[in-house]
Order: sequence, then structure tokens, then C-alpha cells
Amino acid sequence: MDTSNYLKDNIRTVPDWPAPGVQFRDITPLLQDPRVFRVLIDAFVHRYMTPELRPTVVAGLDARGFIIGSVVAYELGLGFVPIRKKGKLPFTTVEETYELEYGSATVELHTDAVKAGDRVLLIDDLIATGGTMMAGARLLEKLGATVMEGAAIVDLPELGGSARLKASGLPLFTLVNFA
Ligand code: 5GP
Repeated sequence: MDTSNYLKDNIRTVPDWPAPGVQFRDITPLLQDPRVFRVLIDAFVHRYMTPELRPTVVAGLDARGFIIGSVVAYELGLGFVPIRKKGKLPFTTVEETYELEYGSATVELHTDAVKAGDRVLLIDDLIATGGTMMAGARLLEKLGATVMEGAAIVDLPELGGSARLKASGLPLFTLVNFA
């Protein structure tokens, strides 16, 4: 089976959402069909079961990164930590602000979520400009952890995020490209 095309065939493109001119790549059909959901999760689990690629903890980005990341962590027998939009985490946090097309966004992580020496797998659903994943990686590094790889279902290479992340030294793994 060609996993990439199988997954791609199950991603819905919604034109002009959330704004005119945007082609939103909707991943909910991947989760809705139990067979496709399993292929998706297994693609990540298969990679990170490899001894040299095994993380010590999985971090997920708010909010679709939680859906994928927590299941992958569970299957690998690892813990999961959420990186949340500002104002949602109750304990002490570190935070990181990054630029969006219009304005900025801030993400937070509990200060005890990871420790120095952790090798973190950082998961989100999609990489566009790469800003979200970059901010997540910075948060984890602030706490002394190493991001061993960033992983996402979809890469939008034309927006330059994956190239930017790789140039910053972050290894990246994605399953589907929309060029
Ligand atoms: P970036 O920070 O790389 O520009 O944007 C990626 C973030 O925005 C991810 O957290 C992702 O969930 C969300 N995002 C942006 N565009 C899309 C899209 O077309 N589809 C989905 N599913 N998420 C998107």
C-alpha cells in the first residue's frame, strides 16, 4: 500500500476557510474512518519504535497535535505532554510568542513537563509557515530537553515552513505533501 497517497486521499480540502483564498486541509476524515486512523497512527509508531529514533517523551501542539500525539505516545509506551495556547495550563509555565500573518500567538508548557536530557518527539497535524512547531521546539529547549524530531501528517512545502525548520537544525518527518 502507498501510505502517503492513501492518507492524502482521505484529507478533505475546504476552499476559502477560515478566510477567502485559504485552502484548508481538513484531517478529520483521517480520524473518522477506523481503518485510515490505524494506518495513520501506525505510520508514526512504526518509525519511532526504531531503537535509534525512540523518544523519551511525546509532546503535542494545541489542538490537533493532541489527537495524534497522545495515541502515538500511548502506543510507544511513553508519556504525553501538551503544549497549549496561552491561558489554559494551570501550573507554572514557560511561554513563547511567535508571529502570525496577522498579529502573534503565545504557547505555553508546564515547567515540569520535560527535563534536561529528554529526547522529545514533537507532533502537530500540519506544517505551514513552521512558526507553531518552531515555538514548540523552543519551549522544550528552554527546559533543557532536545527535540529529536518534529513530526506532522501534512507538509505545505510552498509556505516554506519545513525548509525553515530543517535549516534551523530540527529534523522533520511528514507523511503527506500538498505542493
Ligand atoms: P504554521 O505555524 O506552520 O504556519 O501553521 C501550522 C498550524 O496551524 C498547525 O498547528 C495547524 O494545526 C494549523 N493549520 C494551518 N493551516 C492549516 C490547514 O490547512 N489545515 C490544518 N489541519 N491545520 C492548519
